[in-house]
Amino acid sequence: MKELICIGCPMGCQLQVDVEGDKIRSIRGNVCARGSQYARDEILQPRRMVTSLIPVAGSRIPLSVRTRTSIPKHLIGECLKHIRQISVSLPVRTGDVILANILGTGVDLIATRDLPESGLPSARQ
Ligand code: SF4
Repeated sequence: MKELICIGCPMGCQLQVDVEGDKIRSIRGNVCARGSQYARDEILQPRRMVTSLIPVAGSRIPLSVRTRTSIPKHLIGECLKHIRQISVSLPVRTGDVILANILGTGVDLIATRDLPESGLPSARQ
């Protein structure tokens, strides 16, 4: 039996998932269908967003980045290794693709802030 807390909404239902091998036998504790889908995804194919910071030559602050959507959880370590090897040139705009199709996942790594040529963020950030 695996215990999970559903993150589908602020209610945070406690889920009990009966797993046998790679099969789910039952899911209890969910108030709605989203909870059971969450439990299935989390047990059978867990995914996570990845966020990180990349040092940028010429900038006092690093560039914050994230994957556009979640990637398979087992690829997070490899993804972070790739991110550590990236070098970025200024300027960068929020939403710029920093690395396309990371690890063949079909998911892009994108910038989550502007970094202008000067390496200093604008006042609105
Ligand atoms: S099971 Fe439904 S009601 Fe419960 S936390 Fe998940 S989304 Fe919210």
